[in-house]
Amino acid sequence: MGKGKQIEFIILPNGCKVCTSHARTKDGHVRIQRNGLKTYLHKLVYIQHYGDIPDGLVVRHKCDNPACFNINHLELGTHSDNVADRVARNRSAIGERNGRSKLKEEDVRFIRNATNISNSQLARMFGVDPKAIRNIKKFRTWKHVV
Ligand SMILES: [Zn+2]
Repeated sequence: MGKGKQIEFIILPNGCKVCTSHARTKDGHVRIQRNGLKTYLHKLVYIQHYGDIPDGLVVRHKCDNPACFNINHLELGTHSDNVADRVARNRSAIGERNGRSKLKEEDVRFIRNATNISNSQLARMFGVDPKAIRNIKKFRTWKHVV
């Protein structure tokens, strides 16, 4: 990876390699600096594997997790594919975008770290179903929060 801050990551059950050490953009991509150039982690990883990205194409996430840099989850696509994906994602309304969701990203982080509090207690604390707590802990929901 060359010089720069060490990349730390976790691997989710679905195989996503999610960076935990670097800042994210608003839409969840991992920003990284290499050789004085600012780029995205997933893009850098793709280029290191396959070489330069042809003009007009972008590196997309098959797994829909913008912080993921598992090479097997990346593919080339057009910018309009990306926009279509984003629209579809918003329509399916996950996480905070969901008007019915009572939880915020900071709550999700708290829940995942609260190993000494039972799921039913957590459910009461946040006013959600214990099943929702289990899904958060198992990364079935809120996959974009780490
Ligand atoms: Zn992935």
